[in-house]
Amino acid sequence: MPNQDNSGIMIYAQITNENYIHTVFYELLDKAHELSQKLGNVEISAVIFAPESKLEEYKESFRNMGVNRVYYFDNPKLENYSSIYYSKLLQELVKEVKPEILLIGATTQGRDLAPRVSAGLHTGLTADCINLDINEKGQLAATRPTFGGQLMATILCKNYPQMATVRPNVFKVHSVNYETNTEFIKKDTSIIENLYNPVEIKEFKKTTQTLINDLDNAEIIVAGGMGLKNEKGFELLKEFADKIGGSVGATRPAVESGLAPHSIQIGQTGKTVRPKVYIACGISGAIQHTVGMENSEYIIAINNDADAPIFDIADCGIVGDVFEILPEYMKN
Ligand SMILES: Cc1cc2nc3c(=O)[nH]c(=O)nc-3n(C[C@H](O)[C@H](O)[C@H](O)COP(=O)(O)OP(=O)(O)OC[C@H]3O[C@@H](n4cnc5c(N)ncnc54)[C@H](O)[C@@H]3O)c2cc1C
Repeated sequence: MPNQDNSGIMIYAQITNENYIHTVFYELLDKAHELSQKLGNVEISAVIFAPESKLEEYKESFRNMGVNRVYYFDNPKLENYSSIYYSKLLQELVKEVKPEILLIGATTQGRDLAPRVSAGLHTGLTADCINLDINEKGQLAATRPTFGGQLMATILCKNYPQMATVRPNVFKVHSVNYETNTEFIKKDTSIIENLYNPVEIKEFKKTTQTLINDLDNAEIIVAGGMGLKNEKGFELLKEFADKIGGSVGATRPAVESGLAPHSIQIGQTGKTVRPKVYIACGISGAIQHTVGMENSEYIIAINNDADAPIFDIADCGIVGDVFEILPEYMKN
């Protein structure tokens, strides 16, 4: 049963720099429908920070999605993400609407926003969840890895809203058409006018690192671990990825050794990915890595140790030297 004083599920819909709604919103929304059903079909609302001039475009993104209300904030000060303004406005909205659950995508922005909102509202936040459910008492049961990924903990929150963040690619999106009339409600932003913001954004610069690629949406990922040994190994990996149209990923030790940027680290403290094909090259298969890629549709592992744990989750295993196997494939 839903809580008496608090109702509904609210989801933060992040607008990306390219002006679209971040895909993690749709993943959270899919899960929110499941949770809503278990709570007796409670309302689902979304929050966006978007100018009124762009509203028509965003309306399209919410069509037939089963969102009852979209609250939006329009103010020139909100054009770029601001920890101070966004968290204050979201807190005020939550106080007014009183959702019993507030979900935020664990993107770089969401990871900044969620703890500020939970601290401001004196409620709990379970970060980087891998599953969300409703228990027999109608509470949000948020599951996340703990003790370095060795255990899964299901965490309940005593206060409202019960908050959780989930990384992109953890939940699947099922295409369901909901015939809902979504109401768009503009919210007042005057509260931020006199709010001191110590941060001023001067400009955005695109990164120039060569191994940056879009892991979130990649259909093929070629990931490298310490078995690649050095920069030459990663150059070979990149060449192979380019040849087969894949994106490059890496393990944490590879990142920590300076062979790859942190932005392409996959695993518990990196990204969660769900490509169609994941090719693990010279990766042992530690749980802290596999937790970020085990939902890939088809896993191919190349490792010279036949007992490497990565073979336990691989659909296809190749026992051999990655420095011999990758060039051999590239000949074709
Ligand atoms: C709190 C915490 C968080 C962590 N978060 C992450 C995370 O987000 N992501 C992550 O990846 N790790 C993470 N780790 C580290 C994780 O525990 C492992 O240490 C790491 O995943 C191992 O990386 P690796 O497979 O590249 O290296 P190794 O374990 O050293 O494995 C290298 C593999 O390459 C094989 N190999 C060697 N030479 C060749 C060759 N020529 N050809 C083919 N195969 C070869 C070896 O047989 C071996 O299996 C975390 C650890 C902790 C404690």
